[in-house]
Amino acid sequence: MSQLVEQIAELTAFRDRDALDFSLAMALKDLLRPEAILVHRLVGETGRQHWLLRARVGGAEGAPTADSLWTELEQLPALAALPHHAQCVQDNRTVGVDGMPAATLFPIANEREALGVLEVRSGQPLDADARHLVCSILRIYRNFQGLLDYSERDTLTGLLNRKTFDECFLRAAACVRESGAIAPDTRRTSAAGTAWLGIVDIDFFKRVNDSFGHLIGDEVLLLLSRLMRATFRHHDLLFRFGGEEFVVLMRCAGAADAHAALERLRLAVEHHVFPRVGHIHVSIGVARMRAGDAPTACFERADKAVYFAKQNGRNRLCDHDELVARGLLADESRSGDVELF
Ligand code: GH3
Ligand code: MG
Ligand code: MG
Repeated sequence: MSQLVEQIAELTAFRDRDALDFSLAMALKDLLRPEAILVHRLVGETGRQHWLLRARVGGAEGAPTADSLWTELEQLPALAALPHHAQCVQDNRTVGVDGMPAATLFPIANEREALGVLEVRSGQPLDADARHLVCSILRIYRNFQGLLDYSERDTLTGLLNRKTFDECFLRAAACVRESGAIAPDTRRTSAAGTAWLGIVDIDFFKRVNDSFGHLIGDEVLLLLSRLMRATFRHHDLLFRFGGEEFVVLMRCAGAADAHAALERLRLAVEHHVFPRVGHIHVSIGVARMRAGDAPTACFERADKAVYFAKQNGRNRLCDHDELVARGLLADESRSGDVELF
């Protein structure tokens, strides 16, 4: 009993989701002593979902492992590639799979959607008592995730909130080396490149509210967040900064890739028909993350680029460094380097 309480205390000790998945696997490994525990997450949009391995403890590989968060979707197994796992989430029920070793699969879900599968590999499929124990631990895990969502996510869109931005930025910045390039990931696969911050601001949104009311305005915000999820990759971090301002933190090979992703969003919004409202458009500013950047400094550069876009026609994407290079914007963040005579 005291071991169980100890494990629950461990499980809820972290606010970091990566650590939470590992601590779930470790807790169940200690309690059940199976061959291995794996936590699989579904990533990607409905219709093209893939499996990301968030934690693997035990088994032939020895040391705990996980897929890199930066793995491209296409490199991960597709939903149908693990048919028993797919069945487990689709039916939202425990599935026993005979084999050497046997596997017992438990669905992980929140109120809104299926999130993934917890896999317990053991000599025999788990008995009723062990299954009951796993389900109880999963309920605690789910409640804890709900609390994390409540504090870190915007209630309307489900995107990350402003409060979470600094921490996410600093974590991304820790990967950016002096050169501005991203350090290689120590986990399985990684995409090299640089980190970028994009700010997306709806053009003339006040008019939407004034013409159609706040509820319709809110619906536009929700639909825009869905377009963002569909446009960016599973590892890009999406935020609602309040009001009609959204932020994306992404990792790209270079400026061309970052621009292409943001331009894809701009066009998706321009072509989308919003119920009642019809067409809207967005202005986007982007800034490359520099070595030693503070969240506010990088944000300010992207914000200046949005401001420029607003002043120069709206419905366009502007890159801070490009504007500076073309002499259209002063790079105030570098003014400290300039010697004055
Ligand atoms: P611009 O093209 O210069 O960005 O103009 P704008 O009208 O989009 O920008 P402005 O900053 O003048 O107005 C933003 C509006 O966003 C004001 C407010 O009515 C609306 N707004 C802010 N938060 C919310 C929200 O949570 N829901 C809704 N429906 N509207 C919001
Ligand atoms: Mg606006
Ligand atoms: Mg605004």
